[in-house]
Amino acid sequence: MRTAVVVGGGLGGLAVSGALARSGWQVTLLERADRIRPEATAVVLWPNGVRALRALDLGAGLDAVATPLPDGGVRRPDGHWLVQPRPVPVERLPVVVHREDLHDALIAGLGDRVELRTGVTVRTVRAAPGERPAVGDGRHTFEADLVVAADGVDSVIRGQLAPQANVVSSGCAAWRAVIPWYRAPSLPEAIGGEILGAGYRFVAASLGERGSSGASSRGGVYWMATAAGAARPESPQTQLALLRRWYAGWPGPVEELLAATEPEDLVQQEIRELRPLPKAYGFPLGPGGVVLLGDAAHAMPPHLGQGACLAFEDAATLAALLRESSLPDAVLAYDRARRPRAAAMVRQTRRMSAVLQTRGRLALRARDVALNTITPRILGTAATVAAQWRPPPPK
Ligand SMILES: Cc1cc2nc3c(=O)[nH]c(=O)nc-3n(C[C@H](O)[C@H](O)[C@H](O)COP(=O)(O)OP(=O)(O)OC[C@H]3O[C@@H](n4cnc5c(N)ncnc54)[C@H](O)[C@@H]3O)c2cc1C
Repeated sequence: MRTAVVVGGGLGGLAVSGALARSGWQVTLLERADRIRPEATAVVLWPNGVRALRALDLGAGLDAVATPLPDGGVRRPDGHWLVQPRPVPVERLPVVVHREDLHDALIAGLGDRVELRTGVTVRTVRAAPGERPAVGDGRHTFEADLVVAADGVDSVIRGQLAPQANVVSSGCAAWRAVIPWYRAPSLPEAIGGEILGAGYRFVAASLGERGSSGASSRGGVYWMATAAGAARPESPQTQLALLRRWYAGWPGPVEELLAATEPEDLVQQEIRELRPLPKAYGFPLGPGGVVLLGDAAHAMPPHLGQGACLAFEDAATLAALLRESSLPDAVLAYDRARRPRAAAMVRQTRRMSAVLQTRGRLALRARDVALNTITPRILGTAATVAAQWRPPPPK
């Protein structure tokens, strides 16, 4: 039986572990935390991410907990429409899902061929030509035919195999929260859409419906705000006060949502990305190999909501290639398929970063032009690029 070691129990690592196990691999999943712990926030999955989860046979689990996100268009903080909302057929809408629900669905897909080992921090990787790949935590060595590095933006494995890829700040921080229904404000319409200002962005989405008894008990309203600058060292209470000041006067439902948010709902994160991207995502070694997957391969800012979607694409692509080819061929084919794809999405995300971070008085005119004319174009192109992905067809 073929064996794999997957390092990292985030969305990417869980998805690929389940996919390999369902294809008959013996998988060991190593996670440094003492348990697999998702954030109490939500994630938007665009049609490419949903298609990838369906290719991984996780569609039913997703459907039970996901809420379609209506096209709410894009506005400026003064209410002016940058992109008008359009009627979109429900099957082409993105969905929003609570991360804890998504983790539950991914864990349900692990089956009994995945040995989950928590509290294991991988520190080294053995990637010598002619030898089976292995990782180590200083006490144990875990050897396998295939090592999947799904250990996130600070990947130790990528640090050793692709040291040219640097982790850099994206120049902004993000705040997210899920306000449970019982204290969410009453809002006149289904929530969706985003609001873009100079250096600031706000996105909101409903998780299920108020009063509905869906599969998830974690319903409510999810919002995410990004702001140019560093993460804030102050207490969550002070951060919330700052957010309320920054977003004062923004159109509904921004102020209502910030007013209903409690400090303990707030999840703050400094946004980082890889620059440049790794030169390779696949490293064939003798009869096996190592691959980079998810944020370990292509961490990017969340402006287009594509990080998790790409991680699921990675997992679906790898699983499909491994079913069709020998292991070293699949590792090379994975590299060929995933590097241009990730590079294309990163390019779109960087264009969006540039617009969002245009600040300062001298740049005011340029910023308005960028927001009014360039943003709709970038969003249109990004949506097309994102939608293009299809799982590799069976040979
Ligand atoms: C604010 C924000 C909003 C976002 N919104 C969206 C969105 O709406 N849609 C979307 O598609 N994407 C979104 N993303 C991106 C998405 O969250 C990430 O791309 C995705 O979670 C990456 O998953 P991963 O499994 O690759 O990495 P991670 O989630 O970082 O998981 C890595 C795992 O590896 C473990 N680990 C790390 N090092 C080691 C080690 N040495 N040994 C053992 N274990 C280790 C970690 O503990 C962790 O569990 C957002 C990101 C941010 C920051």
